[in-house]
Amino acid sequence: MKVGFIGLGIMGKPMAKNLVKAGYELVVADKFAKAAVEELVAMGATAAETNADVARQVDILITMVPNSPHVKEALFGENGAAAALKKGAIVLDCSSINPVASREINAELEKMGIEMMDAPVSGGEPKAIDGTLAFMVGGKPEIFEKVKPLLEKMGSSVVLCGGIGAGNVTKLCNQIVVAVNIAAVAEAMTLGQQCGVEPEKIFEAIKGGLAGSTVMNAKAPMMMDQNFKPGFRINLHIKDLNNVVDAAAKYDSPIPLTQSVLEMMKILRRDGDEGCDHSALVKYYQKLTGEELHH
Ligand code: NAD
Repeated sequence: MKVGFIGLGIMGKPMAKNLVKAGYELVVADKFAKAAVEELVAMGATAAETNADVARQVDILITMVPNSPHVKEALFGENGAAAALKKGAIVLDCSSINPVASREINAELEKMGIEMMDAPVSGGEPKAIDGTLAFMVGGKPEIFEKVKPLLEKMGSSVVLCGGIGAGNVTKLCNQIVVAVNIAAVAEAMTLGQQCGVEPEKIFEAIKGGLAGSTVMNAKAPMMMDQNFKPGFRINLHIKDLNNVVDAAAKYDSPIPLTQSVLEMMKILRRDGDEGCDHSALVKYYQKLTGEELHH
């Protein structure tokens, strides 16, 4: 079975590498990241010039691009993939996008006789490299069974959450929990330091208790090191929280915590920190206190 892979960025490149390592015949393209395409070719993948050139060769097409407009462009734009796919081919969109857009894209593909699953991930670059991502999947159960073995080469958890769009709804839930958790860690460590207790001691003392979390373990050391190399960029998290706002408006769902953290992130973006890892939320507090969090 030939697999296409469009979008070889921070996440897509290691995910594609894991598929080559697992023995899949891969055809790859990226509009901008030509060095990443070369890396994949060096491992045995085939490079294609355009997204349509990828599509005409494959049975399953994976997309891993930033947001809904990029997925739509990759599929339906100039030299887009959709028109070149065989009938019965499967589009597996692993990008984190608005679930409403997933449903719109699926409706267009359905008219062309093409199947689609939305399968966004959680875990970030380290888990993309290790092949231990968590996939949240939406779509038909019978198509899920076909793509599951492929997803298991890139992830250690693969869960069908419901029909098309359910993967991205679940991803939005994930992004709320991560954003609010990072903000809580930043707020707590800042308070602790201002009250005269070393942040390192706070982290050591509470990480094994109820307050402990994967987010805290990953992000508290970055905050104390003032190391904001991404990881997951503020601008991508703003994109996800804006998608939460859109979905909440559509279904009249209350999101006061999301709105607060989104405002903090927008202030960081205003000050030029949009390319930093989302652990840079601590900088919002540093602006207010005038002092950096330290060890
Ligand atoms: P990225 O910006 O590093 O990579 C995206 C790639 O897509 C780029 O190389 C870009 O050139 C390519 N691209 C964009 N439009 C294209 C098009 N029309 N045709 C071909 N290629 C195109 O982003 P990333 O960090 O890899 O994130 C990808 C997706 O995964 C996003 O939706 C993001 O929210 C999600 N995600 C990221 C992380 C993370 O930690 N970085 C974690 C989980 C989920």
